[in-house]
Amino acid sequence: MKIQRRALLCFTLSMLCYPSLLPAQQVKDSKIRLLILDGQNNHDWKRMTPWHKAQLEGTGLFTVDVSTTPAKTDPPANWETWRPDFSKYQVVLSNYNGQPWPFAVQKSFTDYVTNGGGVVIIHAANNAFPGWKEYDQMLGLGWRGPDYGIRVTVAEDGTLVRHAANDGPGAGHGAQWEFAVMSRDATHPIMQSLPKVWKHGQDELYHGQRGPAENIHLLASAFSDKEKGGTGDHEPMVWWVPFGKGKVVSNLMGHVGPKTAAITCAGSNLITLRACQWVATGTVTIPVPTPFPTADQTVILEK
Ligand code: ZN
Repeated sequence: MKIQRRALLCFTLSMLCYPSLLPAQQVKDSKIRLLILDGQNNHDWKRMTPWHKAQLEGTGLFTVDVSTTPAKTDPPANWETWRPDFSKYQVVLSNYNGQPWPFAVQKSFTDYVTNGGGVVIIHAANNAFPGWKEYDQMLGLGWRGPDYGIRVTVAEDGTLVRHAANDGPGAGHGAQWEFAVMSRDATHPIMQSLPKVWKHGQDELYHGQRGPAENIHLLASAFSDKEKGGTGDHEPMVWWVPFGKGKVVSNLMGHVGPKTAAITCAGSNLITLRACQWVATGTVTIPVPTPFPTADQTVILEK
């Protein structure tokens, strides 16, 4: 009896200690495997990628690799060696806006999402690849001209309003400003426990995004003020689209030029982190940090 009790105690203690006793490789294997894509962008991707990588790794939930494409000035032959193995990852974060990928890479990316891979698109990554049908479907709405497809605006009550091609503007943005972001689905894991409205760090407010606009699940919008050069409409800001067995989240926030507040804003940053966890696992455990922006006050993590 005594021996049994001791055995039970040992077993209980070992279970309590279990996480710290996991071999390093096992801890690594239990993390979400994430790949950041970069290499070309009309934004300062060399500042953006390290920020996102550090933030993702800081949650303790992700292992992060980076795959950098050839530069625009590289010889075309360099593209022959750029073949990221998407199938090794649960989520791909695209920070890429540049030359079309080789067809073989486009196909393997489409297959990856079709088979259940997760994708998170940040800011100008939604400008990429006009004419790539599957990418347009994954985005739902992208940075395209007014004749490219459907535009979606958001009514006061959150209803999506569809506008035909050439009805209203194509993609653009007004001045950069600290605009309000409104949650449009408080029940979605990415938006859980966020305030209904919070003030974002200085950023471009994309408007007039166009595309097939199929199966768009809106998570957040922002009012595009005419006084700032906007449209006077509530524009979609964060949404997700199912593609095959995979999920694609677009977060339009995140302009980085000389200033970085658009990605170091605690609100936008949280949405990107949570989107990465959600497309990979279907759940979100990353808490809302304190302080978090309010309707009147931004919170910038690093200036
Ligand atoms: Zn921008």
